Amino acid sequence: MLIDVDRIPEEGLKISKDFEFFSVDIVEESTVFLKPVHVEATVKKIGEELLIKGQITAMLNFMCCRCLTPFEFPVDSKFDLVCLPEELEVAKEHLEQDDMNGLFYCKRQVDLKEVIMEQLNLTFPLRPLCSKGCQGICPVCGKLIKEGKCSCTAKESGQRLENLKIFLRDKS
Ligand SMILES: [Zn+2]
Ligand SMILES: [Zn+2]
Repeated sequence: MLIDVDRIPEEGLKISKDFEFFSVDIVEESTVFLKPVHVEATVKKIGEELLIKGQITAMLNFMCCRCLTPFEFPVDSKFDLVCLPEELEVAKEHLEQDDMNGLFYCKRQVDLKEVIMEQLNLTFPLRPLCSKGCQGICPVCGKLIKEGKCSCTAKESGQRLENLKIFLRDKS
């Protein structure tokens, strides 16, 4: 969604929109979007500066990096950004120094979808976990380890595959 910088009304531009993203757009490629990403935002222009403010709500499905169980990950995140014309090199340096949430637009246009995608990526965990205390999967029996214990009795590694099959069957 391209926003024409010169066509933003004085009172600001109000946006209420669903965006369709795909897993390839984001950092975590195993992630699934369970519904469209909803954005409520206002874009205001003050001089050459654009102030983009709003809220992203989304529902995603991540895969736990320890136990490989998919889990739902709701996003409800506010953002508040300043967007400057790319030509303003001076402003760029200034922004970097202040470590602000700075963005740049070029050719008098802002791609809001790109802005949203970037904000969305910032809300994602580096190592997605289904729960804080997730113990992952037992390397012997392939079952989820709960409360730090494993109920596995199989000592032979040949048993491992069989148990993994049971684990998968029980899950489905
Ligand atoms: Zn887990
Ligand atoms: Zn085990």
